[in-house]
Amino acid sequence: MTMRNSANVVVIGGGSIGCSVAYNLAKFGVEDVVLLEKDSLASGATGRCAAGVRQQWGTEENCLVAKRSIELLTTLSDELNAELDFRQSGYMLVASTPEETDQLEENMKLQNKLGIPSEKLSLREAEELVPYLNFSEVEGIFFCEEDGHLDPFKTTFAYARAAERLGVEININTGVLDIVFDDGVKGVITTEGKISTNLVVNATGPSTKYIGNSLNLAHPVEPERHQILITEPLERVLGPMIISFQHNSYIQQVPHGGFIMGYGNPNEPHYINYKHSWRFLENMAQKAVQQLPVLKDVRVVRQWAGHYGISPDGQPVLGEVPGYAGYILACGCGKGFMLAPAIGEGVAKLITGESVSIPIDKMGIERFESGDLITEPAVV
Ligand SMILES: Cc1cc2nc3c(=O)[nH]c(=O)nc-3n(C[C@H](O)[C@H](O)[C@H](O)COP(=O)(O)OP(=O)(O)OC[C@H]3O[C@@H](n4cnc5c(N)ncnc54)[C@H](O)[C@@H]3O)c2cc1C
Repeated sequence: MTMRNSANVVVIGGGSIGCSVAYNLAKFGVEDVVLLEKDSLASGATGRCAAGVRQQWGTEENCLVAKRSIELLTTLSDELNAELDFRQSGYMLVASTPEETDQLEENMKLQNKLGIPSEKLSLREAEELVPYLNFSEVEGIFFCEEDGHLDPFKTTFAYARAAERLGVEININTGVLDIVFDDGVKGVITTEGKISTNLVVNATGPSTKYIGNSLNLAHPVEPERHQILITEPLERVLGPMIISFQHNSYIQQVPHGGFIMGYGNPNEPHYINYKHSWRFLENMAQKAVQQLPVLKDVRVVRQWAGHYGISPDGQPVLGEVPGYAGYILACGCGKGFMLAPAIGEGVAKLITGESVSIPIDKMGIERFESGDLITEPAVV
């Protein structure tokens, strides 16, 4: 099939966010949408992620975007006509110091105010939920039963197939080399030729800052490497995702029984680096066994690395860039897979001029110039 040479909107990036944006644009009536992906769908951060979805964030913006995503997820499988493995098995955030507990308590108050049903658990309540967790180093435990797991591949492909059914053209193995800009977006130059358009959505996640050299725009999104591993399957011993702030790590037993776990080092230099190391394997194994001694003799099946595309305040960067008519960002969230349903809906509605249910006006790039930042305190 030959690629269209003009489009109403070009979405760059075939991860969860790009596919959600493309689907939602078509859903809200935009015709001639083209999505361009340089490799294959979900080959970036999305296909490398830990599949967790949570609403337990520490800023109003992140809480509201995550809450809207969970609302959408409860009916998304029917809407997209696909099984997405969405399981509301909960998320448990574990604090090991009084300072961490205070911070999580403050976050919980904000979440509750916004209608998110997170709660502080007593030790006994937590032990009932996760009997295999080592509670010796635990100071405070926070839980939200609506949070849980969602399959990143199934979700991204479901968005993409549903978008195609609504007329979106998806071109994989098609990289965007540059954006044509002349007093507004005029098109994109790709590895397969040029497409004329007046609207481009940059949904390239960790690669955001590498897009559109001719725009001469400093994108405030950096690729932050995170390593991750998965074990052989075990019989079910863990329901919720466990996040430990002391260990700066997460552990979840996924539907097929394997344990997925990982962490990153925010102080590493920021560039695309898919290397993963023995040191990570060793450290992660120690962190995991300290928290869940039952994992002591479990074999690791695979490890890999990917990137958070992270902004300076740990919140998404959404909307049109002032002074760059037609250039829209849908990126910048460290843990963005879980936010993709609401970001896709929000960005599409912004483009069609409908009212948006997430606070997209507070999430624009201009906040980095004005210094008007509220930093997310709960990224792990
Ligand atoms: C180890 C790890 C664990 C994580 N765990 C979670 C989690 O539990 N929950 C959660 O919500 N999030 C998690 N995240 C973060 C999450 O993966 C990302 O925030 C999310 O997937 C971002 O989606 P995206 O569509 O913006 O980016 P991506 O999935 O990276 O998609 C961007 C796409 O753009 C393409 N692209 C790049 N440049 C170009 C170009 N020039 N032309 C065309 N295409 C291009 C890439 O190939 C890629 O497919 C994790 C990330 C990692 C690395």
